[in-house]
Formats: sequence, structure tokens, C-alpha cells
Amino acid sequence: MSIPSNTTPGLVCAHHHLYSSLARGMPAPPRTPTGFAEILELVWWRLDRALDPASIRWSAMLGALEALERGCTAIIDHHESPDAIDGSLSLIAEACAEVGVRVDCAYGVTDRHGPEGASRGLAENERFIRSGGRGRVGVHAAFTCTDETLEAVAGLAADLDVGVHIHVAEGEADAGAADRLRHLAADDWLLVHGVYLTDDHGLAGTIVHNPRSNMNNSVGYSRPTRFSNPVALGTDGIGADMLEEFRLAYVRHREHDVTASPEVAWSYLATGWDLFPEALVDRVTWSHDPMEPWHLAFSPGVSPLRIEVEGELVWADGSPTRVDADEIRARAAEEAVRLHARLEEM
Ligand SMILES: [Zn+2]
Repeated sequence: MSIPSNTTPGLVCAHHHLYSSLARGMPAPPRTPTGFAEILELVWWRLDRALDPASIRWSAMLGALEALERGCTAIIDHHESPDAIDGSLSLIAEACAEVGVRVDCAYGVTDRHGPEGASRGLAENERFIRSGGRGRVGVHAAFTCTDETLEAVAGLAADLDVGVHIHVAEGEADAGAADRLRHLAADDWLLVHGVYLTDDHGLAGTIVHNPRSNMNNSVGYSRPTRFSNPVALGTDGIGADMLEEFRLAYVRHREHDVTASPEVAWSYLATGWDLFPEALVDRVTWSHDPMEPWHLAFSPGVSPLRIEVEGELVWADGSPTRVDADEIRARAAEEAVRLHARLEEM
């Protein structure tokens, strides 16, 4: 979809981890991870255990602010905080609402912390969605869940009439995911990554491509054009600059196929509006004209000048209108110090 003007609807990040906003500057892991499984064990699974309600709130405030300043008005978030599960999705939703960014929340259910941890994660998804929150039922990934848990997740999502938001075949450790999920997955599922899926994996749902994260974790290129599923774009927790992610998706595609057009990566951004149609009424006025894929693929640094969400002006003159950006950055920095101190003790 090309839009020959300097405006677009609000951009959608189809896979984020707002809790990673305070990870920057965290203490180095006890040893350098040598693969994707160790990156999870030594970095992310330590960080998520250190999260408490204050760090969840301020990482969401900072992440929402950083999304807005890049023209992203709708975030599909995937959260895990095993020592602060209950109420965590509401903390994230409230923070995003304060900044003026739309969010769709999911708690990543996993059996990594035993069956009690899995059932508390399921309960948090159910509590949040039944209380009127916009969300999907989250799962970390098939390889950290029993078949019983995966069935419980699919059953809850069907009961609540929402999709499931799950990492699928991001690394080799999860290469068996398709065989375990094929009988459960539905069109409203978000299948994040898919690097190790076969071309004919047979899973229903939208594939969410995260090119920067896949490069950063050295897991390989998912080659999303090989799938018959719709494809959307996410950042996997590395900010919410969707034009930058679009440019990365384009150059990864182009590196693989010199005939590739940026219109393909742009179609991934457009799939975001199928997943989060509310963002279509949002209006972003940009520093570049036209907002057209062949222009944007070669124009780093395009920025929003003005953003309206649901008719309300939420960004103008380089600042958010509803919140004080300096105050959010200062409070988030204080929380980061506390979070990193807890990590030092782990
Ligand atoms: Zn992720």
C-alpha cells in the first residue's frame, strides 16, 4: 500500500517486549552467550525474573514514549515477569494509555517455572482480557511448555475469542514447534519469527518477522516470502521504530534476492493494520513526502512531526502532549539502576 503524501495511519509494532526498555546498560552476563539458547538463559531469563511492578511500569512508559516518537501508535506486546505476574498486564496497559499509545497485551505462559507458574500466567491473561483489556493469550514458546499447557492456552484463547501470541521456531531449540502446534493454531494466532519453520509448516496464523532481532541473535533469516501466511513486522523489544524495521526487512530481503522490491516489506507493515485496525484512524504527519516504499527504503531518519491518536493530538513540536518526556526518561533511568542492581545479585 503506498500513500503519496506525508501522512500515514499510525504504524503498528506487531511484536514488542516493552519490559526490555530498561535492559539497556544492564550488567554483562556471567559469561558471553555462544548461541540463542544461552542468550535466553544468560540475558532475558535473568532480566524477566528481576522485574517488579515499578520496573514493569517505567519500562512500559519509556517504551511507549519511544514508540510514539517514531510514529508507532499501536504496540502488540508480549510480557513475562515470573516474580510479578498478577496485574502485570494492567500496569503495561495503564502506562501506554497515559502516553497515548494503543497496546495489545499478552502474558507469555511457560512451564519454565513449574506448573504453578504456567497457571498463574494463564490466569493473568484471562483476568486482563475478561476485565476488558485488549489482548491475546501469550505463550513463551512451545519448547518451554508441556502439551497440556499448550492445549490450555489454545482453549482459553478460543473461550475468550482472541488469538494466541507465541514465539515459533526462533532458534534451533524450537524447531519442533510446528508439529506440536499444528492442530491448535488458528488464523488469529501470531506466530513470531518462524526462522526454523519449513516452507510447508501447515500452521494457521500471521507470521511476525523481526529482522533486526534475528540478526542480533544470529538465528538466521526466516525468508518470510516463502510462507503462504500473512506476514507482519515486529521489533522483538528493540524499540518500535517501524520505518527502520521496514528498511531492515527490505535490505534483508534484497540481500537474499536482488530483484526484491521494498513494496514487499511495506506490505508487512500494512499487515499490522489488519492485526490492529484501530491504528488506521490515527494520523501521523512525517518529515518526508512522499511516504512511499521506494522513497522510504533509502531515506533513514524520517520522523513524525505531528501525531493524532483517536482524534487527539498526542505528539507535536518534538514532544508528547500528554506526558513529560524528560520526567519519564529520568524516572525510567532511576528504575533501571534498581533493576540492574537486582541483576548483579542474581
Ligand atoms: Zn519476542
